Amino acid sequence: MSDHIFKDAIERVKRIGSQANVSLDVIDSLMHPHATLTASLPVRMDDGSTQYFTGYRCRYNNLLGPSKGGIRYHPDVNRQEVEALALWMTIKCAIVGLPYGGGKGGITVDAKQLSAMEIERLSRAYVRAMADFIGPDTDIPAPDVYTNARIMGWMMDEYETIKRVKAPGVITGKPISLGGSLGRDDATGRGAYLCIKQLESINHWDPKNKTVAVQGFGNGGYHVARLLHDDGYNIVAISDSQGGIYSHKGFDVESIYKGKQETNRITALYCKHSVCELVDHDVITNEQLLELDVDILIPAALDGVITSKNVNNIQAKNIVEVANGPIVGEVDHIIQQKGITVIPDVLANAGGVTVSYFEWVQNKNGYYWSLPEVHNKLATIMEDAFNEIWHISINEKVSMRDAAYMLAMRRFDKAVNAHGTQQYFSN
Ligand code: NAD
Repeated sequence: MSDHIFKDAIERVKRIGSQANVSLDVIDSLMHPHATLTASLPVRMDDGSTQYFTGYRCRYNNLLGPSKGGIRYHPDVNRQEVEALALWMTIKCAIVGLPYGGGKGGITVDAKQLSAMEIERLSRAYVRAMADFIGPDTDIPAPDVYTNARIMGWMMDEYETIKRVKAPGVITGKPISLGGSLGRDDATGRGAYLCIKQLESINHWDPKNKTVAVQGFGNGGYHVARLLHDDGYNIVAISDSQGGIYSHKGFDVESIYKGKQETNRITALYCKHSVCELVDHDVITNEQLLELDVDILIPAALDGVITSKNVNNIQAKNIVEVANGPIVGEVDHIIQQKGITVIPDVLANAGGVTVSYFEWVQNKNGYYWSLPEVHNKLATIMEDAFNEIWHISINEKVSMRDAAYMLAMRRFDKAVNAHGTQQYFSN
């Protein structure tokens, strides 16, 4: 999939751009990543040898502000994937109205094979290579797959050591004690949850009668499952990279999270206080999870999991894309024909970058907000973005994904127009 991912992302922009009624300059500008830096990262391993890893950072577009986007550690990371993810960040930041462009980074590595100290040395090597490419006013990284708050803390520390300044705004998703924001830890899942609550109110759902399957039980997947479960939704399936579990009776999300913390595996546990017992369940594969007949399917792991190979077997009535790019562009029309409502990634997982933005604002001001303040501001932004997209979708009879891209492109159009477009210069 990764080889096609950038082409797929570009095709989607072209297709939707042709309906968005925006200047051609906007679509052209979205075809071309501004700059991507590739670097070899030498790392001293615990056995004394030196191993070289490849790291990437893409500053895709800065029309609306400094570029912003996470750093991923995964064996499949490559330049095309980083650029596609950076393009999606460009769209996402515009949708939620943040003063940011889009960026992304990654290292091609199986982080599970490295010790904690090797990961620290790798993370610091990445910042040494990228120190002149990133910065609080140029390009601001954050966590993504297999990176977390501790890694962001190491990266900030390395940047500040190189630059000899305090610069907490160079990176977001940091530990609270190092300038992180309250509410950043669950922001991605909470943003998706807030979108689902909007669908709930539009469709008058009773959460007790709604079934949910979640693929990926990391930062995004766990928190959205937890918040939905707390509201009474029936979480019938959960998986991670090793496979999944299913029960029509639903799972207790906190118990499964506790088990995963202790054993690093998804186990069908129900815990009361410190006593846990195994509950009835079926073991399922990640492929089976995607094809379950559920009300809400939440892909929250990797891109390219719904393709021409399995799209005809998808039975979910609604799909909420917590992962970036789980549905490939070439099957968008099939999903739409099947009548499935998709809350697209660029909206569904925008809660993460929104609270990252709050963190950056707090770092710049040296003034920190309470958790209710963060939650209220996040809810306002997510609900406004959802409603704008919903209305475009209804009024212009397009899918929510198309509506989301149209909203972003119309915002770019205003900024591009302010500089002067082809029509302006040729008249
Ligand atoms: P994470 O590293 O915290 O968790 C990833 C989860 O996916 C883990 O449970 C892992 O076991 C599982 N996984 C990995 N490979 C899998 C596979 N092949 N099949 C099924 N599960 C698999 O990552 P995260 O931060 O939760 O990110 C997940 C997705 O959400 C990514 O697409 C990421 O780009 C997107 N996202 C994350 C954030 C954020 O703030 N963390 C923000 C926006 C979007």
